[in-house]
Amino acid sequence: MYIDAHNHLDFYGEDLNKALTIINENNIETLACSMDEESYLFSRKLSEKNSLIIPAFGVHPWRAHENYNKLESFEEYIKETSIIGEIGLDFHWVLEKERYSLQLKVLKYFLEEAKKYNKVTNLHTKGAEDEILDLIKKYDLRTPIIHWYSGSLEILKKLLDMGCYFTISVDISYSKLTDEIVKYLPIERILTETDGPTALEWVNGEYGYPSYIKNITKEISAIKRLPEEEVKEVIYNNFKKLIEI
Ligand SMILES: [Zn+2]
Repeated sequence: MYIDAHNHLDFYGEDLNKALTIINENNIETLACSMDEESYLFSRKLSEKNSLIIPAFGVHPWRAHENYNKLESFEEYIKETSIIGEIGLDFHWVLEKERYSLQLKVLKYFLEEAKKYNKVTNLHTKGAEDEILDLIKKYDLRTPIIHWYSGSLEILKKLLDMGCYFTISVDISYSKLTDEIVKYLPIERILTETDGPTALEWVNGEYGYPSYIKNITKEISAIKRLPEEEVKEVIYNNFKKLIEI
């Protein structure tokens, strides 16, 4: 069983059936992260017919400005979701600085709820690694998953000390930093992710299907000098530990 601990199934559009066939044929357990309520309901529906799909509820920082005033209506989704995500901050790609306070408002709401219901969170940290580190400390969160980390190694070490897990994404073997991160992290804290079809496109121009998770697993095994089967098994166990508490 492969683990895709951060995908966006609502991004596949007319290619969704192909993506689902790949997930089934390759046995890829998939955490379907959401951007907002609509995206969560889409994944939740898919999960009713496919046990490989685990829907996660959250509001992406890019959508915070559209959701900050309806947070009270989200509690039921939070209670039923096994992992809260995608949530976080993005001070890099979001250029409208006036939206940062809304991102913080939305994130703090989700972190309070994560604390209240003892949920694992799936965190986007782009350009806001310091702030995320402080918030993890402040809310004393249980084993957060840091999605596609690209900050400094100094903060990475601190996040690791706080019990975080890290999803390694499609830029492995393309990004020196990602390769360094894989080298540094203990395999017991590593997960794999594809982050939807457009992430790989951003890296090398290819449309990303869930099968790319095999390449990522393979590259991790090369960097870690461990057999691929072992890497696959450890990542599976890492994910199970997070999902089953
Ligand atoms: Zn994402």
